Amino acid sequence: MKKKLIIVGGGAAGFFAAINAAELNPELEVVILEGSNKVLQKVKVSGGGRCNVTHACFIPNDLTEFYPRGRKELLGPFHQFMTGDTMEWFENRGVPLKIEDDNRIFPESNSSQTIIDCFTESANNAGVVLKTSSRVDTIEKKGEQFVVKTNSEEFITDYVLIAAGSNAKVWSLVEGLGHKIVPPVPSLFTFNISDERLKNIPGISVPNASVKILNSKLAEQGPLLITHWGLSGPGILKLSAWGATELSNKNYNFEIEVNWLSKPTEGVLEFLKIQKNKNGKKQVILRSVFEDVSKRLWFKLVKAARISETAQWAQLSNKQLEDLANQLTKCTFKVNGKSTFKEEFVTAGGVDLKEINFKRFESKFHKNLFFAGEVLNIDAVTGGFNFQNAWTGGWIVANSVGN
Ligand SMILES: Cc1cc2nc3c(=O)[nH]c(=O)nc-3n(C[C@H](O)[C@H](O)[C@H](O)COP(=O)(O)OP(=O)(O)OC[C@H]3O[C@@H](n4cnc5c(N)ncnc54)[C@H](O)[C@@H]3O)c2cc1C
Repeated sequence: MKKKLIIVGGGAAGFFAAINAAELNPELEVVILEGSNKVLQKVKVSGGGRCNVTHACFIPNDLTEFYPRGRKELLGPFHQFMTGDTMEWFENRGVPLKIEDDNRIFPESNSSQTIIDCFTESANNAGVVLKTSSRVDTIEKKGEQFVVKTNSEEFITDYVLIAAGSNAKVWSLVEGLGHKIVPPVPSLFTFNISDERLKNIPGISVPNASVKILNSKLAEQGPLLITHWGLSGPGILKLSAWGATELSNKNYNFEIEVNWLSKPTEGVLEFLKIQKNKNGKKQVILRSVFEDVSKRLWFKLVKAARISETAQWAQLSNKQLEDLANQLTKCTFKVNGKSTFKEEFVTAGGVDLKEINFKRFESKFHKNLFFAGEVLNIDAVTGGFNFQNAWTGGWIVANSVGN
């Protein structure tokens, strides 16, 4: 009799595992049970509809640095299947990819539908059985096998892969199987700040700021973007991912300090004093003396340093120069709440990684019970890393089933 693999969830990890398992082992019956009436819905909306499939970072050690949760555990798996393999996998199936300037990788078509079409076609060709509107309600161990019940059917199966993403109901099923769930908290969000210095200048960005969260060890560097609600951009998103749990504990009320310049704080005051000598007759507010700081942001920071709009450099007191240096390099803001980053948002938390054998993405408690994707307590910063986790997990499960 054919052995059976039941996959709970027709999302990124579920499809990737299903296709590879069915192709590697044509004797295996592979069934995807998808709770909703459509598969791959997150892939559809991913990357603003373009699907950022992976990232141009080709060294496993370097790649793990993008995962606040899962860094240590993914090192071994990335030696088996990572970004370069993902590119080859898609390109071999007639989906050309392109690397953008910031190293994010997208289909050349700029459309997530290309990825969905590739998956549904490959699954169909490999004989994967797909059942939509089949929400899994229970999973029980029965001897060497598992009994999986949906809202309408019951399956006896040799292997189960749980790839249901961040789903509270499925996590409670997993708890029922004896696994610990690390409580979920949001990751990848932007900071809400109501402050005169950021008002009416949405869209302004700086290329390489440093941001730290006061009274914590959390600090990051990267581009910042001023929005209608506060601050966003890679520097903030990275902080939100690394600080997901800590910031949730603070109820998203905390203070940050921003250095808008891509240079250290030291030396900035001296540089401003040189401007005072060199540009004595010039009006301070009219021209930013740092190329990283645009005219409109400069205007706001000069005003915050209580320098009048008509003041010339020569008229500035030492105190005013110090205040301006502080606004540029030690600019503090109160954060009150968070907003969702629409291009990509993920949840930290999930199945405790200590209970998984990462050589196989298998439960340490139940042989032939596998997990892949966001159901695990693994998540990454933005840039295609979350999908890479789903592909790597799915690939390893496909190779483990039956072995
Ligand atoms: C708006 C948005 C944009 C994103 N963009 C990107 C991006 O560009 N690049 C990137 O790397 N990451 C991106 N991500 C993150 C990425 O989408 C996820 O990390 C990834 O989809 C996780 O894959 P998964 O298979 O674990 O879960 P999912 O893709 O969420 O799939 C889980 C599936 O399981 C199904 N399911 C749940 N419960 C049950 C049940 N009881 N029975 C049966 N089925 C069930 C769900 O309906 C779903 O189809 C984005 C996320 C969002 C929300």
